[in-house]
Amino acid sequence: MIRSKKYWIILCLIGLLCLGGEGVAAPSQSQSDPSLSKPVSVLLYHPWEEGFEVTFRDHLDWLKQNGYQTIPMETLIDYLEGKEVSLPPNPILLTFDDGTIENYDIVYPILKEFGYMGTAFVITGPRFIRYSKKFWWKEVDRSGILKIENHSRTHSFIWINPQIIDFYSGEDPGDYFLIKGMDRRLGAPIYKFNYELINERYVPDRRIGNLCVNYVAQNGGKKFFKREGWKDGLFQVVKDFRNTRRQMDSYEKEPQRELRLKNEIYQSKRAIEQSVGHGKEVTFFAYPWGAYDEELILKLKKYGYRGAFTTDRGRNFPGDDLFKIKRFIITSEMTVEDLSNVLKSEWRRYLANPPCANP
Ligand SMILES: [Zn+2]
Repeated sequence: MIRSKKYWIILCLIGLLCLGGEGVAAPSQSQSDPSLSKPVSVLLYHPWEEGFEVTFRDHLDWLKQNGYQTIPMETLIDYLEGKEVSLPPNPILLTFDDGTIENYDIVYPILKEFGYMGTAFVITGPRFIRYSKKFWWKEVDRSGILKIENHSRTHSFIWINPQIIDFYSGEDPGDYFLIKGMDRRLGAPIYKFNYELINERYVPDRRIGNLCVNYVAQNGGKKFFKREGWKDGLFQVVKDFRNTRRQMDSYEKEPQRELRLKNEIYQSKRAIEQSVGHGKEVTFFAYPWGAYDEELILKLKKYGYRGAFTTDRGRNFPGDDLFKIKRFIITSEMTVEDLSNVLKSEWRRYLANPPCANP
């Protein structure tokens, strides 16, 4: 659990926190002119973060004192679609990504205490569920306090091309934990990888992996990695192979890609619906790492989603794309002043003094 948390801290935040900005909008409401409409902010918390509970309670306290009221996701969608909806003076949505057990232990009781509601975007794959569990989905969703929606089946990376960036030495630093189908034999190549849902999968020649693994086994096994320049030896093995043999690598075909995406966005939707029962329909998706493209959006529409949440920073207005809903990432290091700045979109001041150490 501890190690898993560390991975998520590294993975989910890198590159997401200190991006972009957005202008200040007038507070009055008008359906005909979006620039005059009331903006709606969506906050994104990761409840597995160190120090989350204290920060979260402080933030809710501040939101309460400043008259913020949480609204259901359906209301936001209706509003963005331009329908007549009555919004409270300071509407806000609270979302929680990755589905770890802290959603149940911390988020759910605190939301209840404050009379707020939110949405937990969970990961449904068996490997992740080993850490995060799912026994609580039914209870929190049916309570109406913390709705369960989808954050993909595995939140994975995939190989994307033949470039080898490392070899497996028995360690899983950060990112490696989430590479789909990774070969965990000592010496196996780590190919260039990236976000699963927006990339074509590269399928390497297994013979290269086998050669590298054999090379390590014949040169001391685990001890091999203590040698100076051990990587050069393995790169040479790969080079010799590629210089003399025709590679039998490939990229996945369209039907394989279709199936992979279906697993990630539809099977996971069904898994939540079956766990929660009572006619539960999962209709919202949060993009893993906030990564999306137009093809993924088409697939989400095909599988019955009404909208999807990004990590693009900004507030939301009527007429905005329902599959590019913006969110503000809120970390456990952020004070109530930081939160206040985020909600007022005082980006210049905020970016000049970011509250986190991430790039
Ligand atoms: Zn995530």
